[in-house]
Amino acid sequence: MSRTLLLDLETTRTGRITHWGAQLNQESRLKKEGAGSKAGLQELDEFARDADFVLGHNLLGHDFPVLQTISPWLGVLKKPVIDTLYLSPIAFPENPYHRLVKNFKLVRSSVNNPLEDARLAASVFKDQYESFRSLAQKNPHLTDFYRFCFDQSQFNGFSGQALSMVFAGMAPAALHTAVDALDCFLAQTDGVVCSNWAKETVPGLLSNPEKRPVLAYCMAWLRVAGGNSVLPPWVKHQFAEIPGIIQILRERSCGDPACDYCRANHNAEEHLRRIFGYLSFREKPKTIQGASLQKAIVEDWMTFIWTTRAALQAPIPSMNTWPGWKPGSLFLCTRTIRK
Ligand SMILES: [Zn+2]
Repeated sequence: MSRTLLLDLETTRTGRITHWGAQLNQESRLKKEGAGSKAGLQELDEFARDADFVLGHNLLGHDFPVLQTISPWLGVLKKPVIDTLYLSPIAFPENPYHRLVKNFKLVRSSVNNPLEDARLAASVFKDQYESFRSLAQKNPHLTDFYRFCFDQSQFNGFSGQALSMVFAGMAPAALHTAVDALDCFLAQTDGVVCSNWAKETVPGLLSNPEKRPVLAYCMAWLRVAGGNSVLPPWVKHQFAEIPGIIQILRERSCGDPACDYCRANHNAEEHLRRIFGYLSFREKPKTIQGASLQKAIVEDWMTFIWTTRAALQAPIPSMNTWPGWKPGSLFLCTRTIRK
């Protein structure tokens, strides 16, 4: 953390800077009077001059864009940024919001003290770093995947390279091309996504450095995705394409009988056999097209459940909160058709 500038701005809703707080090594500065003036920002730039990195919470989404608008000439804007907000969903995928982070904002001990907030972000990063080190020991390939995803990334016109550097050195850098990264993605998500849809969807994202971070957030969520997992609201808000990507990977059948994921998750007859022990649906009554009406109803319901979940990106309360709920419970509803 030496030679890392801790930084936070206080702004009004209209983007006027009211305070800034910064710390570099053991020296700190809290600027109130004239914080957003040219002289005030020159003072910040001078203070930041020897820093190799800038660390803060949502610097890429808020503080840097504000500074860029007011004073694009600032040298601090060219320094690599470690942003704890952008690292949070990856560091803590099961609970993306650290105890010091609520609704993507820092939980402040006092108001209007950006110096305290800058220090809080450093505390959050310390825990994130420990989480990544632990991950690297358990799963170095995944750590390397995150490094690859943030390499050459850009957020709001600012480089996300420092996010990649956080992961670099923790695990051997084995991924060098989009093809390497696709193999890694398929291996890491085996059993939780349709590999056929992944082969269709993922290469286009991997080949574009600006889109690769989307896959890092998808990956982090997919590895903890379960009955009650929901995408963190900040991730959904910041990367609007992620729910759609996850829907394709998990909720759309590829129709390939050799696809283990789709056979287990999208095949009504497989569920019928596994859960109720029936070999097939009743042949009569039939649909107008001559297929089993019972099977058609179940498949329609399965589609409804998956697409509703995708639309809401949340569990369906009436079913998931029912103690007896488990995948396939819907079949209970249709058993009456057999009587
Ligand atoms: Zn499939």
